[in-house]
Amino acid sequence: MYEHDLVFIGGGHSHSLVLRMLAMKPIDNVRLTLITDTLLTPYSGMLPGYIAGHYSEHETHVDLNKLCKAAQVRLIHGRVNGIDLANKTIQLDNQASIGYDKVSINTGSTPNVNVTGAREFGVGVKPVSQLTAKWQTLLAQKTKHNTPHWAVIGGGAAGIEMVLAIAYRFKQAGDSLKLSLVQSGATLLPGYHRNVQKHVAIALKQYGIELITGFRVSRVTKNAIESDTGNTLNIEKSIWCTPATAPKWPTLAGLDTDESGFIAVNEFLQSTSHKDVFACGDVATMVQSPRPKAGVFAVRAAPFLTKNLRAAFSQQVMTPVSLQTDFLSLISLGGKNAVGQRGWLSLKGEWVWRWKDQIDQKFMALFSKNLPAMPTMDHEPMHCAGCGSKIGPELLSDTLKELSVFPNEHFDTDLTQAEDAPVAAVINNTSLLQSIDGFRAFSDDDYKLGIAATHHAVNDLYAMGLQPTSAQVWVNLKFEHPRLTKRDFKRLMQGVTDILLHHETTLVGGHSTEGIETHLALVVNGTGHKYWQKNAPQEGDWLLLNKPLGSGLILAADTQGKATTQSIEALWRTLLHSNRAFFLTLKNIQIHAATDVTGFGLIGHLLEMLKGTQFGVKITTDNVPLIEGALELSRQGFESTLMPQLMPMLHQCDTNNVDWALIKCLLDPQTNGGLLVSVSADVGRELMSKTDAVKIGEVYKAQGDEKILQLS
Ligand SMILES: Cc1cc2nc3c(=O)[nH]c(=O)nc-3n(C[C@H](O)[C@H](O)[C@H](O)COP(=O)(O)OP(=O)(O)OC[C@H]3O[C@@H](n4cnc5c(N)ncnc54)[C@H](O)[C@@H]3O)c2cc1C
Repeated sequence: MYEHDLVFIGGGHSHSLVLRMLAMKPIDNVRLTLITDTLLTPYSGMLPGYIAGHYSEHETHVDLNKLCKAAQVRLIHGRVNGIDLANKTIQLDNQASIGYDKVSINTGSTPNVNVTGAREFGVGVKPVSQLTAKWQTLLAQKTKHNTPHWAVIGGGAAGIEMVLAIAYRFKQAGDSLKLSLVQSGATLLPGYHRNVQKHVAIALKQYGIELITGFRVSRVTKNAIESDTGNTLNIEKSIWCTPATAPKWPTLAGLDTDESGFIAVNEFLQSTSHKDVFACGDVATMVQSPRPKAGVFAVRAAPFLTKNLRAAFSQQVMTPVSLQTDFLSLISLGGKNAVGQRGWLSLKGEWVWRWKDQIDQKFMALFSKNLPAMPTMDHEPMHCAGCGSKIGPELLSDTLKELSVFPNEHFDTDLTQAEDAPVAAVINNTSLLQSIDGFRAFSDDDYKLGIAATHHAVNDLYAMGLQPTSAQVWVNLKFEHPRLTKRDFKRLMQGVTDILLHHETTLVGGHSTEGIETHLALVVNGTGHKYWQKNAPQEGDWLLLNKPLGSGLILAADTQGKATTQSIEALWRTLLHSNRAFFLTLKNIQIHAATDVTGFGLIGHLLEMLKGTQFGVKITTDNVPLIEGALELSRQGFESTLMPQLMPMLHQCDTNNVDWALIKCLLDPQTNGGLLVSVSADVGRELMSKTDAVKIGEVYKAQGDEKILQLS
């Protein structure tokens, strides 16, 4: 059981290393949380190599999701925009805030783009996480037929590496590009060894890069940059590698900062104004002995930060940071050669690049092949959470059949035939429909869990065509110290209440307990005279689905640390996506039958729709929407732990030659899945023109004992 919260903001170079070190030797009673605005954080040393095409994105980025899983760190994917230092809470964009006992900040810096038009028309080299995406867009925009002119602004080591990397990449691809390196100063790489300056100048010349000195950019327009002395350079793109600037929120929060806005820290990396706040890397300045804003210092400070955070929790003596001011500086020259210097010594050649490559690869291996092993349970497979934690359909109906239920003329007591939300009371000819749905937590982010679970529960009423009016919640929170439980409960309930507001539904009560794992369930109520049924499709109907499938198997892969960041991001877009807009559109048209796709997968819910009818369904599997990455993970063999219990449903399907991996996506249990509706062809066309729903199949009259689900 944890008693204290240590929250890390930003997964920069220092924090990546600190989390790895703490994974191997945790701090007693301290829960670790990382808040990061990106799941892949770049390693700056290899960034020019990524731009040049020597390395892939995967090779140059630390996968923070995998790191957190291995290190058993709570991961919150979100962007911090402030700290309430008095109440010890961290504020995020579009999310509930997070409480802390101690906080450490390693959010880096951004280049100075405080020039008119630079934000609008230029590309900042940082945040590097955004640069990688922008770089792909820039590459996609280039054409073989013209010669664009780009300018890299900033003639420091980073600017030089960038401009040479870009030149190399274009030359290798046989594409032409005119490049200028623009700097305000008169000398190339001031302060560097003369030999280094000379080799860099030669490299620029070899690639035909124009060096423009004494040009301080004061304005950027769509097609030009202008200097403060009135010169204009016509260009298509400017890439900004100007000196580091600080984020504004630390100053606004009231933390001591230096004159440039970087967090002022003492020799223990502790804020000079707030002893529970630590900061490291570019975002911080050690006021007594400032260091350059460079990744190498962020890396070297990590062991000191680890020690001092540990000491801070145990009231032990902290260790002052002692870092050399002089360090080996290596600059890659586009291709696989580099120059470097240390003190009076200068180096140049392909061997220097190979040496740098070895240092960089060794660092990255700490987060890939040398990552601490993920925790596993000795004899147990990793059980799925979310809808993958439900019990199978056969087991469910076999058990339900054997139960005695007190008869009541108002209620359907055949539990095996239950609608998504059964009638729970009839008052003055108006039915109260009620549903309960919930599951074991599949995320450490209680706020997002609250959102996904609430959407999920409400879907049962939407599937009946009813506006939910009230809800109750049952929360079972994982055992922690009451201080932490209070924080977790609040975040989780904020997720629930924010989304109930969105669904215009009133929270009227609930119950809370504690246990080994977090669980969350909601009862939702709605009233109406008329509601949609599940088993009423008509011949010739179109079947429409409004959300992609695959959440169960992506969650299963993620539990094992094997899902790609793209698939995790796509998964969360789906989990947090509301069905309300689609439901409101459905309300105004004629629906024959409807259900929501949840624990039994698309196939299971289709079979439920056909149960007791004389119809079958032809599914065009290519039209079924899938979450990005789901099919690939299915091909790799990932599946929810519920899958074996869902397989017997295939006895009712003619699977023809459909790809087995795709069939498993159709069986995959969904958390906050889409609404599946059966409507006439005309209504189907109308719905497709107004919403994102797609036609996945058609209803036909089944013959004799043929299989009722035809996949093609
Ligand atoms: C092209 C280029 C090449 C470079 N090469 C070198 C080199 O070879 N050697 C060297 O020493 N330095 C190099 N640098 C400098 C280096 O990039 C920085 O000094 C280094 O990245 C700083 O590391 P950091 O750990 O402080 O932060 P970063 O590496 O910038 O990491 C900060 C992290 O915090 C996240 N974050 C930011 N804001 C928030 C927020 N509000 N909420 C949540 N998360 C947030 C970011 O997404 C990121 O993951 C280079 C820079 C560039 C641009």
